[in-house]
This record gives sequence, C-alpha cells and structure tokens, in this order.
Amino acid sequence: MIKSKKTLNKLSASQKELLTKKISQAGRILIVTHQNPDGDAIGSSMGLFHALKETGKDSYVIVPNDFPSFLKWMPASDQILVYEKNKELVQDLFKDNPLVFFLDFNELSRTGKLKNLIEGSPIFSILIDHHPDPVNFSDIILSDTNMSSTAEMIYRFVEELLGRESINQSSAECIFAGIMTDTGSFSYNSSNPETYAVLSALLTFGIDKDSIYSLVYDNFSEDRMKLLGYCLDQKMIVMKEYQTAYISLTNEEKKKYNFQAGDSEGFVNYPLSVSGINCSVFFMENGKKVKISFRSKGDFPVNTLASKYFQGGGHKNASGGESDLPIEKAIEHFKEILPGFIEEFNHGKLH
Ligand code: 5GP
Ligand code: MN
Repeated sequence: MIKSKKTLNKLSASQKELLTKKISQAGRILIVTHQNPDGDAIGSSMGLFHALKETGKDSYVIVPNDFPSFLKWMPASDQILVYEKNKELVQDLFKDNPLVFFLDFNELSRTGKLKNLIEGSPIFSILIDHHPDPVNFSDIILSDTNMSSTAEMIYRFVEELLGRESINQSSAECIFAGIMTDTGSFSYNSSNPETYAVLSALLTFGIDKDSIYSLVYDNFSEDRMKLLGYCLDQKMIVMKEYQTAYISLTNEEKKKYNFQAGDSEGFVNYPLSVSGINCSVFFMENGKKVKISFRSKGDFPVNTLASKYFQGGGHKNASGGESDLPIEKAIEHFKEILPGFIEEFNHGKLH
C-alpha cells in the first residue's frame, strides 16, 4: 500500500480519472467498514454495494465483527461478510490486488482484526469518511468533516463517478438509513441544506422513509427495552456540578438481559435529555475491555476527551474510546480527569 498521499476534501480531476479507471478495470471490489458497525457504516457500505452491483461489478462488503439486528432489514445485508466468521473467504478476497473502499473511519485500527490483513495485502484503496483528522493509510482520501454522514458522501460519490442510473431503490434505502442514523433522525449534524438536497433526491427512488424509520427504531427486542429501563432507573449517575451524567453496564448485567450486538446502541444519548446535562458517557464491559461512548451538546469536545484519556476519538459531539482497566477503575479515572478537562475547556484551552 502507498502511504504518502495528501489529504483532500474533494477529489481532484486526476484522482477522479484514476478512480474511474480503477473501478472499470477492477476484477473485484471490496468495501470495508469499521468494527462495531453502526447505521452509517452499514448504510453507506450497502448503498455503495448496490450501486456497484447495478453497474455489474463483483463487489463484497466486509465488516470486522457482526452488526446490530436493527440493520439486518437492509437489502442483501445477509451477504455481508463478517471477518470473525469468514476468515478464509475474506483472506482470499484480499488476494489479486482488489480495489478497496474504506468507509466511515479515519484510522486503520478501527478495523480491528482486519487491520493486519489490510496492511499485508497488495491493494489499491480509497477512503471515504467524515471524521476529523484522517490518518494517511489509503491511496486516495476523500474526507469531509462538514458532511452529515459517510452515507451522504456515498450518494455524491456514486452520482458523480458511477452516474445516477447506478442508484437503485435498494441503494437509496441504505443511504437514507445511513444519513438518518448518523444525524439522530436529523436532530444533529444536519443543518446543511445540501444534506436535504441529497435526502430529497433519495426520495425520488421510490423509498418509503417512514417504514425505514420504523425498521430501524421500532424493531427492538423486549430484552433490550428492559435493559434500557434498567440502565436509566438503576445505573444513570447524574453529576449536576459537572453537567455530566454516565451509565455503566457490566458483562454480568448484559448476560442477565440476554445482550445481543447493538442492544446498547443509543443508550448514551438518553442522559443528554436531562435538563442541564451537556456531557454523557456510557461505559460497557466488552470481554476484558471497557468500551466507552461519549456524547455532548454545544462546544464541549468529547473527541478530545476520548483521544486524550481513552485511546479513542471521533466527532466533537459524538466520540468513543476504550479502557483496559476494570470498569469501576475506568469510571474512577474518568471522574478524576473530568474536573481538570472542564477547567481547560472553560479557559478556552481546548478546541
Ligand atoms: P459510538 O459511541 O457510537 O461507538 O461511537 C461514536 C463515534 O465515536 C463513532 O462514530 C466514531 O467516530 C467514534 N469512535 C467510537 N469508538 C472509537 C474508538 O475506539 N476510536 C476512535 N478513534 N473513534 C471512535
Ligand atoms: Mn459516520
């Protein structure tokens, strides 16, 4: 892999030409997204997948680990290859110099166990992403932090490089779901009129947006709803003096509620609905590690908090990280660093 390309917000004419050639010559196209894939990861990947298929390209979507069941309604999502479950097949697909799209992540470590395979394979790659500060790990970088979602970028990319005729109803449904989930159903990251131009265009492909909403948000298991109730009633700790609240969940508690991948999706947002709370954190044991999600309102930069103290990153108002400490120690650590971090923020030292 080449590692020295400049970061660009838009594709240059020569990059466009190169990509068009690469796509038309590619024997096989792989679409890879980040671990613990969310709606934007799966929506943008499947949106591109359907458009490439429509143009006759042999394409595969590959994810490091399984994705939540509330995304499994997406057309052809049963063809998504989960690396954890299909190691040999995925390894074979990386042979013979495939064209690889990396979607919705800004550093290779976000692909978990796929990272080694990607680094060791002769590929030509393009990153399409909207997270700040992408690391140079691909041959071409299309990065735009002003975009609501990677799915929105995929719509524009496909329209420009493959042509509008490659977008079918399946592609439009997946792209719509990606934008919807990454903006909290258009409640954040969605003030750019251009986003609605894309949404408006998507509606012309015959998609049923109300049913997409319902398939994503009214599709939870009884266990998940009860777990949410438990978290809010028993596990939410509000620290009013720091305008912060957090929820934690242990492996044991997850087991009690028959936890499935994606069941805690969105939990971190609830404490932000408490009046006066500007920062919300969700700690969850995941095997031996603790996965941490951060959300904030306004200018409070939880991505800086995540990268400074929890090996993570992300967007200003939505970020994540992890800790190798036992969960109670990770929470303790968070409580120790928070006052100083808020102080720095109040003194304008953070951005
Ligand atoms: P979530 O809390 O939904 O898992 O993640 C929210 C956002 O934080 C993601 O869209 C991603 O940008 C970022 N994020 C989550 N986990 C990590 C992580 O471990 N490392 C980095 N760099 N970013 C993360
Ligand atoms: Mn995204």
